Amino acid sequence: MGRVVVGVAVGVAVAACAVAAVVVGRRVRSKRKWRRVVGVLRELEDNCETTFGRLRQVVDAMAVEMHAGLASEGGSKLKMLLTFVDTLPNGSEKGTYYALDLGGTNFRVLRVQLGGGRSSILDNDVKRQPIPQHLMTSTSEDLFDFIASSLKEFVDQEGDAESSVDRRRELGFTFSFPVKQISVSSGTLIKWTKGFAIRDMVGMEVSGCLEQAMTRKGLNMKVAALVNDSVGTLALGHYHDADTVAAVIIGTGTNACYMERTDAIIKCQGLLTTSGGMVVNMEWGNFWSAHLPRTTYDIDLDADSPNPNYQGFEKMISGMYLGDIVRRVILRMSEEADIFGPVSSKLSMPFILRTPLMAAMHEDDSPELTEVGRILSDILEIPHAPLKVRKLVVKVCDVVTRRAARLAAAGIAGILKKIGRDGSGGKTPGRSRSDNRIRRTVVAVEGGLYTSYTMFREYLHEALNEILGEEVSQHVFLKVTEDGSGIGAALLAASQSSNIQQCG
Ligand code: ADP
Ligand code: MG
Repeated sequence: MGRVVVGVAVGVAVAACAVAAVVVGRRVRSKRKWRRVVGVLRELEDNCETTFGRLRQVVDAMAVEMHAGLASEGGSKLKMLLTFVDTLPNGSEKGTYYALDLGGTNFRVLRVQLGGGRSSILDNDVKRQPIPQHLMTSTSEDLFDFIASSLKEFVDQEGDAESSVDRRRELGFTFSFPVKQISVSSGTLIKWTKGFAIRDMVGMEVSGCLEQAMTRKGLNMKVAALVNDSVGTLALGHYHDADTVAAVIIGTGTNACYMERTDAIIKCQGLLTTSGGMVVNMEWGNFWSAHLPRTTYDIDLDADSPNPNYQGFEKMISGMYLGDIVRRVILRMSEEADIFGPVSSKLSMPFILRTPLMAAMHEDDSPELTEVGRILSDILEIPHAPLKVRKLVVKVCDVVTRRAARLAAAGIAGILKKIGRDGSGGKTPGRSRSDNRIRRTVVAVEGGLYTSYTMFREYLHEALNEILGEEVSQHVFLKVTEDGSGIGAALLAASQSSNIQQCG
């Protein structure tokens, strides 16, 4: 009997030891796995580092590249395109103007009524319409006939008082593709982007194509300003606040423009404008500097993109890409160790994790991170991720967004440095050496990433304050404009009287 008891006891002990060994073994393995994944995170953090010193280098590089792009054609990755917009709307504009905003999947037509007193946009109507997919790769005639028809319908709906007079209406045309501007109201298409590919259009004069289509549709309308979305944003910003000197778009893509002195535009010698200035469209999405903190994920994303080696700054900053950088990091973690379960095939699908979803995970403040769990499960097909893993995903989003926002801030500070508004004592027209007052400076901002992603916006503000320092920051304001890309073009149609032509 005693032997049996002893035997059972020994058996139990052996079994317990075996279980313990399995548990310990599992723990050790799990710890090892976890360590590998944390290693991936640490490496990401290190390579995305945006210390104060590094940001300052990016600020300096931006200012230097701006100089280079203004000095000669092709002198920098920054195109620094002339816009021929020499004066910005100031509130005295009066009358009814139209705008057409074409630059993505939707296009919009707008009517803006201006009262003549500062900040008195009396009314504006908007009509939004998607561009049918087949027209994006069809002929320029098909595309512009479609747009002109839509515009005609919109104009025909005008109130009686307006339509009874058969006057020639003026239109601001926001065309957010790279254009070589010939005058404020005309320019040739350099290349298509964003899914458009109408071969017969490249090299053609854009406003002319639209005007011919409008004539075909019996619409008596003239393009008075041809601009891109950042210039429209600057125009609306300046209309509301005369201290607005630059505009930045941070949405699907990113770009910036600002008011430059004509004598600083070396590549266009002898350029004369009444104001002594001209808005320069930087096309800053293509900015590059060795100081930018780049990771293997960025390199792979670029290599897989339809435009490798282009838009390097944009690929680190804008809404089109941030979600995809995060997807790539999660894929790598998942391959490194099975903390996400078996590697989900969804993780290999480019752009499946869109930036608004990434933002929703980043900003999930529920104790159990339920939104993170839902997105991992529904979008990436990673079910039942434990809390610890969900926290890790939030951290990845944080690292990627923080870098993006801080680099965008450095870009803005670079512009301020170039125009002497960063407190470092650069040259400013009309300012004597002894006048050390820091001038109030406003930058107009537009784009869904900035306006809808709170953490992005906060990181950007924090970095800008850090770079500029407390004293200067107090005088620099980022102001969100709404529909600037459309309304701004109508304002420019109203305010542009200049007829300066292509330089050289
Ligand atoms: P576009 O740049 O195409 O003219 P928007 O300025 O409206 O359009 O920006 C839309 C982009 O902003 C989206 O493609 C997306 O990347 C980003 N975005 C929109 N909403 C959010 C959000 N809630 N969180 C993060 N990013 C967002
Ligand atoms: Mg836009």
